[in-house]
Amino acid sequence: MADQRWFYRTLDEWNAIAERLKQTPCPHCKSVGMLIQHGHLYGFDDSSPQRKTLRARRIFCSNRNRRRGCGRTFSVWIADKIRRLSLTTRILWTFLQRAVAGSIVAAIRATGSLRSDRTWQRIWKRFDRAQSAIRTALSGRGPPPELPIESTRRPATAQVLAHLQAAFPNADCPIAAFQFSMRSFFV
Ligand SMILES: [Zn+2]
Repeated sequence: MADQRWFYRTLDEWNAIAERLKQTPCPHCKSVGMLIQHGHLYGFDDSSPQRKTLRARRIFCSNRNRRRGCGRTFSVWIADKIRRLSLTTRILWTFLQRAVAGSIVAAIRATGSLRSDRTWQRIWKRFDRAQSAIRTALSGRGPPPELPIESTRRPATAQVLAHLQAAFPNADCPIAAFQFSMRSFFV
């Protein structure tokens, strides 16, 4: 995948990334030895609606003090966060499963009306656009499972979700596992 993203699941995984920063090439300019920690990205999401939580850590390819980095920054995301949406992968997984099994309206209700209907409709569209890329990424890990044809109103989407679950059978949240393993945003 050309545009690989960085994710971590646990503090141990983050610490391992942080310790290796000096030996890690910058994803933009490929220089080694220029990456330094550059703060945090906090935001609201369903894991803690009252308080901002850590969503990503920023890394800077330093061009200060005569360092030869490119001066660009990038994020190392916590694997269970959805970028640009104040959501975790877990609530998105719940929403998508319900949307496939029944209707979008029922799916919105299943999330406890955490966001407005319009927001969820937008999220659905964003997922819909991402579906073929998700399918392609998953096919690298194995074929989609067979599904009974009459099982759902949205067979193609049901197939993608079943494929996702089959690809990460032991994952707490298959979407977080997807982001971490594929080094790519789910939506
Ligand atoms: Zn760089």
